[in-house]
Amino acid sequence: MKQIENKLIVGLLTELKTLETPIVIIPHMNPDGDAIGSSLGLCRVLKKSGKKVSVIAPDSFPSFYKWMTGSSDIILYNKDKKKADEKIKEAGMIICMDFNEISRTGDMAPVIEKFKGKKILIDHHPDPQCFSDITISYSESSSSAELTFHIINEMGYEKFMDKESAECLYCGIMTDTGSFDYSIRNPETFRSLSDLIKYPIDPIEIHHNVFDTYSEDRMRLLGYCLGEGMEVFPEYHAAMIFLPREIQKRFNYIKGDNEGFVNYPLSIKGIRFSVLFSEIKDQVKVSLRSTGSFSVIEIAKDYYNGGGHCNASGGEISNMSLEKVKDQFRKNLPEYVKNMKEEE
Ligand code: 5GP
Ligand code: MN
Repeated sequence: MKQIENKLIVGLLTELKTLETPIVIIPHMNPDGDAIGSSLGLCRVLKKSGKKVSVIAPDSFPSFYKWMTGSSDIILYNKDKKKADEKIKEAGMIICMDFNEISRTGDMAPVIEKFKGKKILIDHHPDPQCFSDITISYSESSSSAELTFHIINEMGYEKFMDKESAECLYCGIMTDTGSFDYSIRNPETFRSLSDLIKYPIDPIEIHHNVFDTYSEDRMRLLGYCLGEGMEVFPEYHAAMIFLPREIQKRFNYIKGDNEGFVNYPLSIKGIRFSVLFSEIKDQVKVSLRSTGSFSVIEIAKDYYNGGGHCNASGGEISNMSLEKVKDQFRKNLPEYVKNMKEEE
């Protein structure tokens, strides 16, 4: 990662020093390990520095992140709007975490738009929308958690770090790199991990908490997805997994149960593009993954009202049945992969 521009650090420090009102940290909708980990890590550090801080998430997050210290204090906007609105009203600063467009916060978007205090963005998605007073956005960073850790260090706030905040930030880096499988070529990321481990935290326990806590139903759902629920297109180096509502019911699906499933087809030799379609509420939620130089962000933007990173994007489709979405994918696949290099 490039060095964070000093004027951004100085700007943030100046804002923090003069701020007398509370801070609210807001991660994106359907928060993942990075969004939760970096929000909670920063929240704890800022609290130790003497600030009043809350984390307000637009909606709930998977249970395998609930071991993180502070997770039980997260206010869910869709469940406790009154409390959330009160906190935002009191606040003089909001820190937007791990998203590049306000729309990624769903129903919280108008709240952020209307907010009169200072808005800070900490993120690692490309092309951030211009909505914040201070934008700390580095798409080369493995995760928002790594970026947050750099910011903490650059501000001289490492004195406020402890084991619990280190665990949260480590979890963010671990999950956003698929357990150090992708976005992990930069020596700086390993240096950050090494610094975090010294707090001291237990990386084995953290990995276990996130990845080895499947319910039996979830494991059998994965079995379905890799069996009947997967279609492979070897000629296009692509695969599709689909998760219809009735299958979710059969396996007592709860939020987060399909997390990571989209990565499995990439373990098939020759497969470099994978997509997961899940029926969630009245929409089809789309997850896209790729390896190497083949980018999925344009497909997410052009066809699925979404965005993300080159190798990991997402989106959604409304008013279309899952079967229709699948048909469209099969039909469009040659177009989607037209820029894919033959060998890599
Ligand atoms: P996932 O497939 O895990 O839901 O999302 C992968 C990445 O795609 C996320 O880190 C996020 O950057 C992006 N993403 C997911 N859903 C959406 C969406 O609806 N809109 C946009 N703009 N990006 C999304
Ligand atoms: Mn992230």
